[in-house]
Amino acid sequence: MTIIYKFKGDISSDALKELEKHSNISLDTEGSGLQIPHRDRLSLIQLSSGNNDAYIIQPSQQYQCPNIVKILENEKITKIGHYLRYDVLNLQYFLKCQVKNIWDSKICSKLVRTYSQNHGLKDLVQEFCGKKLDKRLGSSDWNKNLNELTDAQLQYCSNDVIYLHKIKDALHKMLVRENRLELYENCIQFLKTRIKLDQSGFTEDIFQH
Ligand code: MN
Repeated sequence: MTIIYKFKGDISSDALKELEKHSNISLDTEGSGLQIPHRDRLSLIQLSSGNNDAYIIQPSQQYQCPNIVKILENEKITKIGHYLRYDVLNLQYFLKCQVKNIWDSKICSKLVRTYSQNHGLKDLVQEFCGKKLDKRLGSSDWNKNLNELTDAQLQYCSNDVIYLHKIKDALHKMLVRENRLELYENCIQFLKTRIKLDQSGFTEDIFQH
């Protein structure tokens, strides 16, 4: 069973102290849609230390989350996510911060799992954790009051963070084995620029002919 901690506004200072003990924290965000920031907004932030726990935070409309920002900006804590191109833009725009030290399982999967066409989180959870993720609740109204979210919805958004540590370990080993660690690191380096391009409206692939 996943231990779920719910927070309104920001994580508590006790939760911050607990999370700061870990060198890897997984993260995910839910928004009201995919058009961040012009149409849609950040609804929920999920964090996990990797010990089958999920911290689910519903920020206020003012987005004042100094404790979460401390984790995001901490160079010593690796933030693991899947398709961080979306989540980092979401967090940096609404929380007005810089997300430092990131690790992306989707980019990594595309570089090493060349035997597959499927690089969704669902596919990675299946392959490395032997679990079937139910993604049906993905299109939920995450802006409704945190206390009104159902157990199924809370479990759904926890599932997006609790498996990422294990996936990172497995994919990292594959990156080393396939000799693509440097290539991966260069891609992650470029992700910051990719996000700036998205934010400036250059959503197409600028390298394409
Ligand atoms: Mn999610």
